[in-house]
Amino acid sequence: MSDIAMNTVIDNALKNAKFMPFWLDNPSAPDAEPAFEGVAQADLVIIGGGFTGLWAAIVAKEEDPSKAVIVLEAGKVAFGASGRPGGIISTSIMHGLANEARVFPEDIEALEQLGQKNLDDFKAALERYGIDADIEWNGEMTVAVDDGHLSELKEEYDLHERYGHNVQWLDKTGVQAQLKSPMFQGAMWSQNRSGIVHPAKLAWGLKAAALKLGVKIFENSKMTDLSENGDRMTVMTQNGRVDAAKVFLATNAWHAGQSDIKRRIIAVRDHVMATEPLTDEQMKRIGWDNRQGIYDTRTQLNYMRLTADNRIIFGGSVTYHFGGNFNPAEDGQVETYHRLAAAFFKTFPQLHDVKISHLWGGPIDYSMRFSVFFRKYFSGKAVYAGGYTGFGVAGSRYGAVTGLGLLSGADLPELKLDIAQKPSGYIPPEPFRWIGAKITFAALAGVDEKGGWRKLWLGFVKRLGFPF
Ligand SMILES: Cc1cc2nc3c(=O)[nH]c(=O)nc-3n(C[C@H](O)[C@H](O)[C@H](O)COP(=O)(O)OP(=O)(O)OC[C@H]3O[C@@H](n4cnc5c(N)ncnc54)[C@H](O)[C@@H]3O)c2cc1C
Repeated sequence: MSDIAMNTVIDNALKNAKFMPFWLDNPSAPDAEPAFEGVAQADLVIIGGGFTGLWAAIVAKEEDPSKAVIVLEAGKVAFGASGRPGGIISTSIMHGLANEARVFPEDIEALEQLGQKNLDDFKAALERYGIDADIEWNGEMTVAVDDGHLSELKEEYDLHERYGHNVQWLDKTGVQAQLKSPMFQGAMWSQNRSGIVHPAKLAWGLKAAALKLGVKIFENSKMTDLSENGDRMTVMTQNGRVDAAKVFLATNAWHAGQSDIKRRIIAVRDHVMATEPLTDEQMKRIGWDNRQGIYDTRTQLNYMRLTADNRIIFGGSVTYHFGGNFNPAEDGQVETYHRLAAAFFKTFPQLHDVKISHLWGGPIDYSMRFSVFFRKYFSGKAVYAGGYTGFGVAGSRYGAVTGLGLLSGADLPELKLDIAQKPSGYIPPEPFRWIGAKITFAALAGVDEKGGWRKLWLGFVKRLGFPF
């Protein structure tokens, strides 16, 4: 397709899109619980009503039904990353096996077992509470978009085989039989407890389960201050105060007033689009009968999956705003999505007549080690769990369980692992953060097509210890 033809296709496709997450644009969204007012006592207060906070509330109540558990959410449940992701479920609790090998080579076996247990417990809980979140357990597939990426992907495949994953290597013909794209050269398809989920339905189901267990959830209730009061904690909101024994900060990319979190997390913004439902004839043009969740090997990766009504969700276009803005104007500007739409039509030129229905952005809690980490504050009476770096749809359950274990001081072998004990490293503050991020994202946007200084810069940034 010529540049002019491509621009016409993109402009036509984007012209009637809504600026909101497809997942949240759903008549089955529950009403908000009331905002918190007055004074209350609790055993545990959880700040944040995303997956981490909701799982923490459920698991805390399951462990001890007599515990008074309160969730305070600044917006509505699933307002944050949990209502906005691609929704690909992965067995790994930390951005895949290759990342486990990079960060904690000594602990791979333990991390693999934790990942499998996490998914088994995740599945069992969904069955127990009757949560219907359109889950399809069809695996996750990484596709090489360049011949040069095949050898690295093959190494990743070998690593998966070594650790006993149910994984298949697909050559060019094999991958085209799964999903037709002129870009796909080969793939690794892992079918180990992985697939796709409707994330907002998952969050709403977890909310309903938590309420049923007796958790008190307050929405539109932002924590405005957190302090220690003897052996208790005081949580302030705009209109009230909760005195609690323990506090769980499940705030993902938000730093919850803790400068220590801000030093270790960059709140970046990723962008996503949803197409209109594909017709049967359009589906035939691409295949995708096995409906896997897919990542590609572009340096700034794209991810893609189908919805229950056969839309394609396609994401992966990251930006950063000075200070980590959570509500940037660019999320509502169509120009922001041009690069993403171009990547989509380059991947699937045969879908040139498909229209885009929804466009949105969401916060990513980028950490240098690409995995959840835990920090204790106020002599262990508060804990933070975050840093998933865009990989927490299932891993957030592990984050919740581990955060609760650290809060209660449980003596469990998994709490002694480095993943639970060691924090992610410091990231330079502003304005260096903004300058570094700007150059890096500019380099990422064109490195695969243009190379040059971009490659040199990204190599330098990697050597400093920042993966992407
Ligand atoms: C665009 C995008 C695509 C992604 N795709 C995938 C994917 O395909 N697969 C995958 O595994 N992961 C993916 N992720 C990551 C995944 O969505 C997150 O890791 C996960 O949702 C994190 O859940 P959480 O509960 O920790 O955070 P969140 O869902 O962000 O919840 C944090 C909550 O804290 C609340 N909060 C913050 N401050 C306060 C305060 N002071 N008082 C009260 N409440 C507060 C916020 O309002 C927010 O609701 C993606 C993320 C994004 C943004």
